[in-house]
Amino acid sequence: MKSINYNKYRAVQSFNGRIRFLVFHYTAGNFASSISALTGANVSAHYLVPDITDPSYQQSGHTTQEVFGLVDETQRAWHAGVSQWGNRNNLNDTSIGVEIVNLATFDDGVFNFPPYHSEQICAVEELALNILARYPDIGPTQVLGHSDIAIGRKSDPGPMFPWHALYLKGVGAWYDDMVRDEFFQQYQTSGIPPRAELLKLFKKYGYDTSKASDDVGYRNLVRAFQLHFRPENYNGEMDARTAANLAALVSRYFP
Ligand SMILES: [Zn+2]
Repeated sequence: MKSINYNKYRAVQSFNGRIRFLVFHYTAGNFASSISALTGANVSAHYLVPDITDPSYQQSGHTTQEVFGLVDETQRAWHAGVSQWGNRNNLNDTSIGVEIVNLATFDDGVFNFPPYHSEQICAVEELALNILARYPDIGPTQVLGHSDIAIGRKSDPGPMFPWHALYLKGVGAWYDDMVRDEFFQQYQTSGIPPRAELLKLFKKYGYDTSKASDDVGYRNLVRAFQLHFRPENYNGEMDARTAANLAALVSRYFP
């Protein structure tokens, strides 16, 4: 079940030494269609985490939660596409991509984000901890969603992805609640910082702010942040809660 779509011309050693990011995705398709897409000609990922309740997974003879390695970690997979984080673009070069089976849909401009299965999330956690232990260059703020690095283009792994629960297990970043509450009180009393200030914080944290100079671009940026760090409301509107979460994250990881 190995994907054929890797870069044969990249030296194994140099790729291995350069992995700095872990990127999560949802498949927006069942196991069978995901396998066929991820082992086809256009996209690939290092790992696929199925959902045990998916009929197509059961029909393919599986009964337990497994994780499939589709592309060797020493090979570049094609999961991120046009992407940016901090001063790096084209994150396929420097990341491990994990696809998670989830039937998220986008119809007539409306997203539907079904929850992830608990066993599936346990498998994601175990896989992520294993990867992070082997690649110390992947810091907490470099554990990302596709939506973080492809703003306005991607929404996966979506607001149902349990970023906070994974953080509590040692995967990825989260803000300190007390620090966040202080910022929140401050912003409720005196108003949220001006957009230019908030853009500096987004940029400092790693988000690509280059397309956020107009209202549409700014909204996309805010929504991308909310999908990860304020999933209860990801409408793209900046508010005191979103600004406080952002300020608390920056003060923690980029003081
Ligand atoms: Zn994706």
